[in-house]
Amino acid sequence: MKDRILRYKASSKSSGSYVLYWMQQAQRIHCNPAFDYAVAKAQELKLGLIVCFVLSDEIPEANMRHYRFMLEALLEIAVGLAKRKIPFHVLLGKPTELIPRLGQKARLLVLDHGYLNWQRTWRDAIFSSELLSDTELVQLDTEATIPVHLASDKEEYTAATLRRKLVAKLPDWASYPDPPHYDIEPQYLDLQGIAHYPYDMLDIDALWAWACSELKLHPSPDIVGGITGGYEQAQKKLSLFIKEKLSAYAQYRNHPDLDYTSELSPYLHFGQISALEIIHKVFEAWQVPIDTLPQLIANKKQLTGNSLNLADYAEELIVRRELSMNFCFYNPDYDSAMCLPNWARKTLNNHLMDAREQHYSLDRLEQGETDDIYWNAAQRQMIFSGKMHGYMRMYWGKRLLSWCPSVDEAQEILLYLNNKYELDGRDVNAYAGIAWCFGKHDRPWAERPIFGMVRFMNAAGLKRKFDMDAYLRKVDLILRGKDEILA
Ligand SMILES: Cc1cc2nc3c(=O)[nH]c(=O)nc-3n(C[C@H](O)[C@H](O)[C@H](O)COP(=O)(O)OP(=O)(O)OC[C@H]3O[C@@H](n4cnc5c(N)ncnc54)[C@H](O)[C@@H]3O)c2cc1C
Repeated sequence: MKDRILRYKASSKSSGSYVLYWMQQAQRIHCNPAFDYAVAKAQELKLGLIVCFVLSDEIPEANMRHYRFMLEALLEIAVGLAKRKIPFHVLLGKPTELIPRLGQKARLLVLDHGYLNWQRTWRDAIFSSELLSDTELVQLDTEATIPVHLASDKEEYTAATLRRKLVAKLPDWASYPDPPHYDIEPQYLDLQGIAHYPYDMLDIDALWAWACSELKLHPSPDIVGGITGGYEQAQKKLSLFIKEKLSAYAQYRNHPDLDYTSELSPYLHFGQISALEIIHKVFEAWQVPIDTLPQLIANKKQLTGNSLNLADYAEELIVRRELSMNFCFYNPDYDSAMCLPNWARKTLNNHLMDAREQHYSLDRLEQGETDDIYWNAAQRQMIFSGKMHGYMRMYWGKRLLSWCPSVDEAQEILLYLNNKYELDGRDVNAYAGIAWCFGKHDRPWAERPIFGMVRFMNAAGLKRKFDMDAYLRKVDLILRGKDEILA
């Protein structure tokens, strides 16, 4: 556990009457190294553990859709912690004010880790708070299989360079520790003067009504029907994936007309399930020893059958996802064209004056009213279901470049749309995926108009590889389902 520590501040004081875990990125109590660390320390110190979550409407780009999904999981956490007699407080306000205020009376304050700039700014402010000068502080990496700062000490150029490092280190990190024992009497915070949700009202309608009345949430887009947040729901999706999809993952995961991916990204984004737990469950279900994981990832190109399915899934869940973490952790410009490699910036600049096929207003783009039926379908799928198929995300991102005067404008529009509508938006994968559309983590290809040497995708390629009529029919069904809900 100690190795997962990203930052530590000692304290000479040994008073403090509880251990406080400020839950932010890792919104779960299963396979959460920060929570487990706090539990183990509380037990060792014989002090009660208290868990806090701060609801704030200052989270960049989050809207009703995201809050609803998050609150469903928080309620489940409240129920789970109540069973273990660990108080869980959902507070309202600014974490940078509330956590130091509550943390000053704690013996130990435990934090999880967020890779984005705003999350890091919050944690920096807490670590430098004078109110916490007498409190021991620990921050742990909770989301990466291998803590991002230990996987690599620099920004990686491609998946290949990171993959080598992960494969070498995975043997030390693939284990999945048992949860620590805890039997301390509960201890409660004095929340006088702090707006909070009554911790014994374990009802989603009441919690949602409270959040909507207390937070300034943008009413659009609407919450997504047919998907519920939380660990239990993530487990159900995972079981379904293992049972019905994993055996054809390598063959069909890229097919937008089919649904062969796990659909776990919103749960991973909110930290409602751990990637380490997912990979363990997948290997267990197929009775493959977990210590073969590094070799499967390293030798993917030589594999076939079920080994290839496992390797492909591990490549996405571990290598690609942790490449995105590496990117955002080491490159603070992850949301601007400054993050692109020099060759990509240069080649795109060389083609700045190339004639664009069309120019669409943001409104037409947002409504999915371009002349490209596949782009429109993907955009509408995302608006209504909070999810665009992964392969279409690549097409959708690249296609936009041919309609925008510059990469800066294309990146800005993609981030706006992705982060507004996708349930898994605002993630490290959002920034890496969108930057990938413009050459990040990729290599130069043959020169062509507008794109220069950046990899190109077109509708002819989609039609050649997939049954795109079936994709259009699929989206149509999704939209009609939505219309029926609205009617
Ligand atoms: C333009 C663009 C925007 C994207 N925006 C997001 C986003 O906002 N949030 C997000 O989570 N992903 C994003 N991705 C990455 C990828 O498309 C999604 O993670 C994937 O479609 C999620 O579906 P799934 O959970 O069914 O994936 P599965 O195929 O089941 O994969 C399992 C997990 O592996 C990870 N993963 C899969 N593909 C990738 C990838 N290419 N890069 C990094 N990690 C990956 C995800 O965490 C995913 O949940 C984006 C990609 C592009 C090209």
